[in-house]
Amino acid sequence: MKAEIFDIKRYAVHDGPGIRTTFFLKGCPLRCLWCQNPESMHRGQDILFTRIKCIGCGACLEACGKLDQTLRLPRELCTQCGSCVAACKTGARHFAAKLLSPEETAALALEDQIFYDLSGGGVTFSGGECLMHADFMAHTLRLCKESGLHTTVDTCGFVPFETFERILPFTDLFLYDIKILDPARHKEYTGRSNELILSNVKALALKGAGLIIRVPLIPGHTDSPKNMEALGAFILEELDNRILRVELLQYNRLAASKYGNTTIYTDGGPGEYPLPDLEPQTKEYISYLSSILAEKGICVFCETL
Ligand code: SF4
Ligand code: SF4
Repeated sequence: MKAEIFDIKRYAVHDGPGIRTTFFLKGCPLRCLWCQNPESMHRGQDILFTRIKCIGCGACLEACGKLDQTLRLPRELCTQCGSCVAACKTGARHFAAKLLSPEETAALALEDQIFYDLSGGGVTFSGGECLMHADFMAHTLRLCKESGLHTTVDTCGFVPFETFERILPFTDLFLYDIKILDPARHKEYTGRSNELILSNVKALALKGAGLIIRVPLIPGHTDSPKNMEALGAFILEELDNRILRVELLQYNRLAASKYGNTTIYTDGGPGEYPLPDLEPQTKEYISYLSSILAEKGICVFCETL
């Protein structure tokens, strides 16, 4: 059993307590307009194309007769044999993810155990939505726990509750995204209803899971006072405030550069970034949003640049 891991971030300090290693797994059930990791949306391996590195040598064309003059092909024709990647000496074509087993993943995580021990850190799994890989996650988290690591799962919550039940004994902390409380707006901006997300977090709270609720603050989409009021009411009424805290994450524009026609497939990958003109919130505005929750007795932490 292997999972597609598209990034491994060592010495991470924003993905749970202390210094951590974060593994990012490919595949996501949501299609948020503001997705920060568009290369992770599609589950399964992709071959990426970084146009700026392409010198037009034509070696990939020689390696693969199926490519068209733009050096692309329909996804269904690609066997992912890797011949064009091997032929490309500039790295313009490269695999999006490494395939790792639970044993290989846990071994990589353990390499930095000394830093976790010194800082109270551990290992974090993120994505995409890491819990789309339910078997892999259950196995890997168990191995990490058996080795004494603190484990964190960063999730959008849109998976069957049985998946949470499988990993709960091996998960110390959830970073749980709640984006929008209004069901219609949630569906409009993420492509999915929030019903499952909210029922799962409620069930986790009832079971005493370690929960940090995270809200990505997207200007005009998730950062309204009305959304904060609704979130506060949900935390008090449905979760009985059984959470460690809420984290409000300031909007940033770093993701925009990841968009564009980035794969070798003629469907082009995630397309253009749909929110190019948004500005990050001011610290004062985030402080105001934070006060809406704090006045209800909810612990809040704000992450600003
Ligand atoms: S990975 Fe796909 S595009 Fe590249 S050589 Fe193989 S079949 Fe052709
Ligand atoms: S082999 Fe690489 S550098 Fe040469 S044309 Fe193909 S993508 Fe561009």
